[in-house]
Amino acid sequence: SMKLDVNVLRYLSKDDFRVLTAVEMGMRNHEIVPAELVDRIACLKHGGTYKVLKNLLKHKLLHHDSSKYDGFRLTYLGYDFLAIKTMVNRGVFVAVGRQIGVGKESDIFEVAKEDGTVLAMKLHRLGRTSFRAVKSKRDYLKHRSSYNWLYLSRLAALKEYAFMKALEEHGFPVPNAVDCNRHCVVMSFVQGYPLVQVKELQSPTMVFETIVALIVRLAEHGLIHCDFNEFNIMIDDDEKVTMIDFPQMVSVSHRNAQMYFDRDVECIFKFFRKRFDLTFEEESDKFDSLEVETHESSRPCFSSISKTAGFLDKELAASGFGRRDQEDIEKLIGGNEMDPDHDEEGATDEGCSPADSTETRTSDFDTLCLAEQEGQSQTYAEKHQLDDKKVSSG
Ligand code: ADP
Ligand code: MG
Repeated sequence: SMKLDVNVLRYLSKDDFRVLTAVEMGMRNHEIVPAELVDRIACLKHGGTYKVLKNLLKHKLLHHDSSKYDGFRLTYLGYDFLAIKTMVNRGVFVAVGRQIGVGKESDIFEVAKEDGTVLAMKLHRLGRTSFRAVKSKRDYLKHRSSYNWLYLSRLAALKEYAFMKALEEHGFPVPNAVDCNRHCVVMSFVQGYPLVQVKELQSPTMVFETIVALIVRLAEHGLIHCDFNEFNIMIDDDEKVTMIDFPQMVSVSHRNAQMYFDRDVECIFKFFRKRFDLTFEEESDKFDSLEVETHESSRPCFSSISKTAGFLDKELAASGFGRRDQEDIEKLIGGNEMDPDHDEEGATDEGCSPADSTETRTSDFDTLCLAEQEGQSQTYAEKHQLDDKKVSSG
């Protein structure tokens, strides 16, 4: 868990953000961005960059590394501030409040709109626990010029945003996807509690059946949640169910689809059996698809569910989250539960291709800033974003 002191935001000048953004741009091609390159990108007068770098370092928005050469990289906090600043500029929210969740690979905060409406902001931290796994799978990412934690966290956020939007449009009970920038997703705040905290239900059977029906309907739409458990299901006072947390979702055409589907189902059965004493008619052979019992509590059978996987492949590809993105993220997230190693921070020791580092043009900076103001950037930080940047007003 981290403290996000957004008061610092107020004391950061235009130049501070200019230099912070310059470091972010440098990280396209460098894990550690040479100070000299930062200066060249930021293009401040009279060596102003170095003074600003010191200030950013003081506020822990940057990390200084001089092991190979004098250079800097963004910290999570620095990346957070860039995303938050962009959201504030877009008018998505005006204030950041308390932290409401610490996930395995995310931090979740309350944020408030001008009119007081509270939203939830999820900051993805993909490098936090799975960087070793990522490293061991680096071959998969050869087609990328950079595959550091910025890229991965941003990819996770983009996927979550795209899926949330698509699921919402198809009538699934998910938070309303408000906006997405870098590793940050802003969504409606869900009243209620994660199911894991709920000790009593008026109608556990109904809630159980609702949840199992959700898994089935997802599969009918071509999707498997892959992390469908009591931590990612929210229940409100009326026992209405909302599902959250989608970066690990896969298509039913995934080679391990059956296993993921059965695991999701098993999680729910197991939880309701233990927590609410529900009993189920166990089927002797759940793969016997032709003779599926339609008893409410019988296990849904994956092979009997329609395999029209067009939803994920067509709609989500059209939304800006392409098949290649999906492949990347499946390979990275899909296997990390098996990974015994843990890295605390991101890709500090990762060498990146310096290939076109010298080609970073000064004008890129202004393009990025301008595009962000207009909410339609097409640069590194943004090129996978969705077209629809409009901020929902309520
Ligand atoms: P992770 O991927 O890190 O597990 P989650 O999306 O599951 O992150 O969120 C972690 C916790 O934060 C949830 O269990 C829930 O308590 C809280 N949370 C997440 N999204 C929302 C939301 N939209 N509204 C309210 N609480 C939320
Ligand atoms: Mg979760």
